Amino acid sequence: MNEEHIGQDILERYVRNALFEDRLAHVEEHLIECNWCQERLREEDAFLRVFRHAAAQVELRPESIWQNLFAPRHRFSLAMATMAGSMAIWFSASTYHSANLPAATVALTSYRGVQQQAHVSPGKRVALTIEARELPPAKDYAVQIVTSGGHTVFAGAVGLDVTQSRLNVPVLKLGRGLYWVRVYTESVNSEPVMEYSLRAE
Ligand SMILES: [Zn+2]
Repeated sequence: MNEEHIGQDILERYVRNALFEDRLAHVEEHLIECNWCQERLREEDAFLRVFRHAAAQVELRPESIWQNLFAPRHRFSLAMATMAGSMAIWFSASTYHSANLPAATVALTSYRGVQQQAHVSPGKRVALTIEARELPPAKDYAVQIVTSGGHTVFAGAVGLDVTQSRLNVPVLKLGRGLYWVRVYTESVNSEPVMEYSLRAE
C-alpha cells in the first residue's frame, strides 16, 4: 500500500469534483487499497463517489449539502471545522463500536514551553489529548494534524473537556512518520496558538 495518505485538501477537492485529471488516477488508486482514506472520504459525505466512474448513481442522488459547504470561501471557517469535527467524532464513535477495540490515549503536553516528545503506534487507533492549560482561553478550538511533508491528515474542531482541562481529538490512526499537531482558536487558516510534534513509529 502507498504509505502516503490522501491529504485533506485533496480529499475535499475530490469530493467537490475539483481535482485535476492527473491527480485523479493517483487518488482513486490509493482509495481502492486504503480503508482509512475510504473512511475519511465517507466522512466527507462522498459515500457514493468512492469511484467517480459510478456517475450514473451520483446523478440520481440529491446534491449534497457538503458540496456547497466545501466551496472555497467556506473551507477554512471554524464553523466548517466544527461541523467536520462533529462528523469525525460521530464516525469515530461508530467505528469504535464496530471495531470494539479501545484506542490508546496519548497526551500532548509541554513543560515550560519545551514539548515532551510524543509517540504513538503507527496504524493503531489513538485518542490524542492536549493540555488546555497551556493554551490561550477560547470558546472554540480547532486542530490540524499534518505530516512532515505538509499533507493534512486531520482538520476539525475539537471538544474542550472542561473538567479535565484538555482538548480531545477524535480517535484516528496515523501511518508511520513525523507529524505536526497545530492548535487554533479561530480558524485553521489563522496562526496556530500551539504546535506539537508527534512521532508514529
Ligand atoms: Zn490512505
